[in-house]
Amino acid sequence: MSNLFYQGRGRKRVLDQARGVYMWDKNGRRYLDGSSGAMVCNIGHSNENVLAAMQRQMEKSTFGYRLHFETEASERLAARLAGKMPGGLNRVFFVSGGSEAVETAIKLARQHALAIGEGSRWKIISRAPSYHGCTLGALATTGYAPLTEPFEPLMRVMPKIPAPRAYLDGLDPADPETGRHYADMLAARIEAEGADSVLGFIVEPVGGASTGALVPPEGYLERVRAICDDYGVLMIMDEVMTGAGRTGAFLGGDHWGVRPDIVVMSKGIGSGYAPLGAMIADDRLVGPVLDAGGFAHGFTYAGNPLACAAGLAVLEEIDRQDLCGNAAVMGDRLLARLHGLMQRHEIIGDVRGKGLLTAFEFMADRVTGAPLPRALNAYQRFVDIAYDRGLIVYSRRTRDGIDGDHVLVCPPLILNESHIDEIIDGLDGSLTEFAAEIAP
Ligand code: PLP
Repeated sequence: MSNLFYQGRGRKRVLDQARGVYMWDKNGRRYLDGSSGAMVCNIGHSNENVLAAMQRQMEKSTFGYRLHFETEASERLAARLAGKMPGGLNRVFFVSGGSEAVETAIKLARQHALAIGEGSRWKIISRAPSYHGCTLGALATTGYAPLTEPFEPLMRVMPKIPAPRAYLDGLDPADPETGRHYADMLAARIEAEGADSVLGFIVEPVGGASTGALVPPEGYLERVRAICDDYGVLMIMDEVMTGAGRTGAFLGGDHWGVRPDIVVMSKGIGSGYAPLGAMIADDRLVGPVLDAGGFAHGFTYAGNPLACAAGLAVLEEIDRQDLCGNAAVMGDRLLARLHGLMQRHEIIGDVRGKGLLTAFEFMADRVTGAPLPRALNAYQRFVDIAYDRGLIVYSRRTRDGIDGDHVLVCPPLILNESHIDEIIDGLDGSLTEFAAEIAP
């Protein structure tokens, strides 16, 4: 028996090596990493420039406590990240992961409200389904019942509005009225909660694992921004999964030109080389908090030099190889090929995504949108079949308004055409096998 345990569904195979888009287990079996781990390894595995930068940092120093020292690595990474943000978002707070980044955003928003005399504001509205992390503060904003329900006595569950699931509601996502329809649910919820109690709204620009790459309808994020402005509510963009080029732009929100008050990032900025996350906030939020006595928050490993050196080298690789551009081009091709699979495989009910954040959803009936029976455990069974065929993909089943099994296909952004062929072959074979298995 192993001494390790995670979610009770650990893989038995042991990872040995990983290079580029491929991974090998201890038995020498090769896998194509079609999900970048958990949408993490944006620049691919074992990038030599990143490894060399980490080696150089290790030879200098591996730890300096943030209250004693800054490092060149953390200063340079902060400057480089700030340079990629919409104007005014220039204050960076490093952490070690996405949940910590969300916690940091919530706490900064709250301390800002206190500093400007708006202490009645404390609620963070979010969407269901959504995923913002598993620590209790971030979990309170997560709209994913299986993860939140067991902990409800321990935390104050935050208000939710429905994610804009136009494809299930029979609405046209290209029609601006659809975007307005879903965004106005935020205004209604702010009113219902009492506008002076609402601190912020947290949103993934393109949905991640919880919704299966749900792209917002036309005008949605722009209208959300306007509503937040009208009510003095802070807009927090959760770019943990969408950031660092995943959707074909550095930030997912860049596609719509929306400027949030706070951005949270993780996954792709460390790209799996080191645990790294960041909260990037508007200077106008940070200033009053510092003036009022400082930000009462921090983690021991914040700004870890090795993580920051890795992050800096990762950002350099994203720019040097134009991985945002490659994600856009390859993402369009991958999406077109997934649509091709949908034509051949009846059990795929929807295909969606942006850049290399793509997904398909299983349905028992495409017309009604009825999901496959839960008892089939389709999301788990399908990834197991693909895994045995040497293709790693990521899947979920939600039950917060989108009651379906979806499979995320999110390979590293260094993807090329032949990798796409391999992914599509792997999915095609796995779909045929899965469909035969569940056939009555
Ligand atoms: N926010 C989003 C959108 C995520 O996808 C995740 C993780 O999947 C998180 C936050 C939490 O990040 P972490 O698992 O690094 O704590």
